[in-house]
Amino acid sequence: KQNINVALIGNPNVGKTSVFNQLTGLNQQVGNYPGITVEKKIGFCKLPNNIKANILDLPGTYSLNASSIDENVVIELLLNKNDKLYPDVALVVTDVENLKRNLLLFTQIKDLEIPTILVINMADRMKFKGISLDIPYLEEHLKTKIALISSRKGYGIDELKNLIVSYRTISTEPCLNASSIDPDYFNNLRKAFPNQLLYKLWLVITQDVNFLNLERNEIRSSFTKSHSDLKRLQQKETIKRYQFINDVLKVGLKIDSSVARDYRSRLDRVLTHKIWGYVIFFLILF
Ligand code: GDP
Ligand code: MG
Repeated sequence: KQNINVALIGNPNVGKTSVFNQLTGLNQQVGNYPGITVEKKIGFCKLPNNIKANILDLPGTYSLNASSIDENVVIELLLNKNDKLYPDVALVVTDVENLKRNLLLFTQIKDLEIPTILVINMADRMKFKGISLDIPYLEEHLKTKIALISSRKGYGIDELKNLIVSYRTISTEPCLNASSIDPDYFNNLRKAFPNQLLYKLWLVITQDVNFLNLERNEIRSSFTKSHSDLKRLQQKETIKRYQFINDVLKVGLKIDSSVARDYRSRLDRVLTHKIWGYVIFFLILF
């Protein structure tokens, strides 16, 4: 039986390469700055139930509204079902401290109807930051399965592997109904290409990428409005997505800032003691 394809997608610096290393046992360079993964890297992972997977580490991307070469690499893969690396399951990796911003890309990937697992990384930072998550609520409203992990400490990796194995049970229902961006425009689009996913068509129209199954010029010539109209629709899309994300996080994510403050003042006290310790130490020394 062939290996399944697992793609790691996410904003820069959320820990994709760290997750890649955890899954594959390889040791790719982990960076402290964005954009270190400039090309796709492939590794191999043995999962439970004798399932084997190709793990694909993709460049960091903020959204599918491509503006950089890195983002184009991701979009071209996701729009091309014939690519031999086309993912059977996508892992959207996020940083628990930047969940709101990171979820924008998640909702876009989800709308391509690829089984998508939400990986919330850096769980080791939650206590320090006073962050708590209602995982069942988030799973229900984001229509996904969530793996809460720390790729640094290795927490949650086995659970993640089990989720990957059961990727067929993950809902492929989209987060955002594309027609809601502009009903007239999108209903016409749907009429013209009834068998294509609306959000994919939208990406083909707005992005400079090749899309093999469709005559790109054909869609573009009949559905490309003026540049400023397209920009306006893209902005509407982003606003709609953030409205959805805000609503979900209002219940699903709680930040108790007093916890973080307590922790910090305790830390301050420890540091102050340390500093006085050093001062006295040096006074005695001299
Ligand atoms: P990428 O840009 O998404 O590939 O992210 P990297 O894997 O290069 O990680 C970015 C930074 O986050 C590095 O400094 C990692 O050490 C750090 N990092 C990754 N995973 C975790 C984690 O679970 N907890 C914490 N605290 N830091 C992490
Ligand atoms: Mg990386």
